[in-house]
Amino acid sequence: NVNSDIVLHIDHVHKTFAGLHALADVHLDIREGETHAIIGPNGAGKSTLLNVCVGVLPPTQGKVMFHGTELTGLKPYEINQLGVARVFQTPEIFGDLTVLENVMMAMLSHQDGAFRLKLVSRFDEQGEIGQRAVQALRERGLGEHLYHLAGALSRGDKRRLELVMGLVQKPKLLLLDEPTAGMARADTNVTIDILRQIKQSGMTIVIIEHDMHVVFSLADRITVLAGGRVIAQGVPDEIKGNPKVIEAYLGE
Ligand code: ADP
Ligand code: MG
Repeated sequence: NVNSDIVLHIDHVHKTFAGLHALADVHLDIREGETHAIIGPNGAGKSTLLNVCVGVLPPTQGKVMFHGTELTGLKPYEINQLGVARVFQTPEIFGDLTVLENVMMAMLSHQDGAFRLKLVSRFDEQGEIGQRAVQALRERGLGEHLYHLAGALSRGDKRRLELVMGLVQKPKLLLLDEPTAGMARADTNVTIDILRQIKQSGMTIVIIEHDMHVVFSLADRITVLAGGRVIAQGVPDEIKGNPKVIEAYLGE
C-alpha cells in the first residue's frame, strides 16, 4: 500500500462560518514520524484546521482520514481513542485540581468526564496511574508542582502541563496549537527541548506555530496557510525566503 506511511490525510477540506471561508480546499498529508509545522498569519485558518481534524468542528466539505479510518462525524473522544491527542491554543486544564490530578485525568481521557473525576479522586499517587503521572511530571520539570493547583501555575508551566497531559495519552499523533504562545524565551527553549525528545521518540507531530524560531528548530516539513488556503509547502529551506510566504506575513 503506497499510502501506508500517511498518518493523517486531509482531503479537500472546506470550512465556512456564516459565509466566511475559514478553510478553502485544504489538501494535506501528514507522514509517519514527521514533525509537520502549519504556519501562517493570524486568521489563516490554522486552529480551524486542527479543530476539524480532532472532531471539534465538522468540515463543511471534504474529509479527514487517520490511518485509513474516516474521522469525519466522529466525536472528539472517539478520535482520541484512535490515538490522536491535541493540545489547544488556550490551555484546557482543570484549574481547581492539582497538577497531578490533571495528569491523571488526562491518563483517563478515554473515559467520559464525570467518571474520570470519580476515578481520579479514588487514585492517590501511590496507585499505578498516580506513579506514572508523577514520573511524567518529574521528567518534564514539573516535579515541584505536583500538589499545586493547576490554575495557580505560571503561563509557561500551564503550557508545559498541557504538553504532559497530551503525552501521557501515548498518542500515535500529537497535534499542538501554538504550544509556546505566551511563553518567555527561556520557557520556549525548554519546550523546544521537550518537543525534540518527543520527536526523537518517533511520534508523528503536527504543530501550529507562530514563532519561527520554534518552527525552524523542529519542523521536518512546513505547510503555509493564508486566507484558508495552502499557499506553500516544503522542507524548511524551501519555505525560508519563499516570496509568497513573505508576502502573506507582510500585513501582520
Ligand atoms: P488562525 O488559528 O490561523 O489564527 P482561525 O482558524 O482561528 O485562524 O480562524 C480562521 C478564520 O475563521 C478567522 O477569520 C476567524 O475569525 C474565523 N473563525 C474561527 N472560528 C470561528 C467561529 N467559531 N465562528 C466564526 N468564525 C470563526
Ligand atoms: Mg489559532
